[in-house]
Amino acid sequence: MITFENTQPTLAIHKFTSCDGCQLSLLNLGPDLLQLSKLVNIQHFVEAGIVSPDCNVDIALIEGSISTNAEIERIRAIRAQSHYIVALGACATAGGIQALRNMADGDAWLADIYPNTEALDSLTTSQPIADYIRVDFELRGCPVNEKQITQFLLQLAQGVKPKTVDQPVCLTCKQKNIACLMITKKIPCMGPVTQTGCDALCPSHQRGCFACYGPIEQANIDSLTEHFKHLGISAKAIKNKLLNINNQPSDFYKTARRMSENSGFRQIKA
Ligand code: SF4
Ligand code: SF4
Ligand code: SF4
Repeated sequence: MITFENTQPTLAIHKFTSCDGCQLSLLNLGPDLLQLSKLVNIQHFVEAGIVSPDCNVDIALIEGSISTNAEIERIRAIRAQSHYIVALGACATAGGIQALRNMADGDAWLADIYPNTEALDSLTTSQPIADYIRVDFELRGCPVNEKQITQFLLQLAQGVKPKTVDQPVCLTCKQKNIACLMITKKIPCMGPVTQTGCDALCPSHQRGCFACYGPIEQANIDSLTEHFKHLGISAKAIKNKLLNINNQPSDFYKTARRMSENSGFRQIKA
């Protein structure tokens, strides 16, 4: 059951390792953000000029992955001061595109870039926040869909437990009468294995999905990669589709790793 001490739940938006795009989705709500601010009491949202990082709140939205020791300490402190924690976007839910370093020698990369790495606080991995604290809800996407955030917060503020939709993007194409790009134009698309929630944004603009929402639970990756091969897509290009924005979910990662082992290109670190 969802309950809050305050009739108007308090809200904080915290940033970790990220590009700020998910916070921008919130800002892009425009007039709807003003409506939202009547429903929830925004206590901390740096991009909107509201700063109170240590506040206790009912709902904390977390953007970004954990990639430094300081961030581990900070996410634990935020857990202690927040009733509900919501991981916002691909960085917070899966480590983000920066988690590509998890499969490489991160220390060697740093040494290539910085003359002195001793002063850097950088972990060799980028992890989802759920690897360090208990997370109550996840909203996926890169960035998250602004309508999805609004609906989620509306439900939560009214005491309704928001539901996770475990359906592929293909379902939304059907609902919107979008002709399948993979069938009609032979455009490779990750939609059959990717969770919907974005209103089929890419297919709506004649672009194949690149899986920014991450895999559905019963994703048949092998079937899709076979289909990509029939479309003439190279093994390397297929691997790159799997290791994109959501490169850490095991469904994508394990298939890409197996493909690397069976091919001539660079091996992926276990
Ligand atoms: S999920 Fe994407 S848009 Fe959101 S902060 Fe991470 S990189 Fe940026
Ligand atoms: S365009 Fe992509 S998401 Fe849409 S139906 Fe075809 S495969 Fe599925
Ligand atoms: S269609 Fe795929 S890549 Fe595009 S926004 Fe939706 S989930 Fe993300």
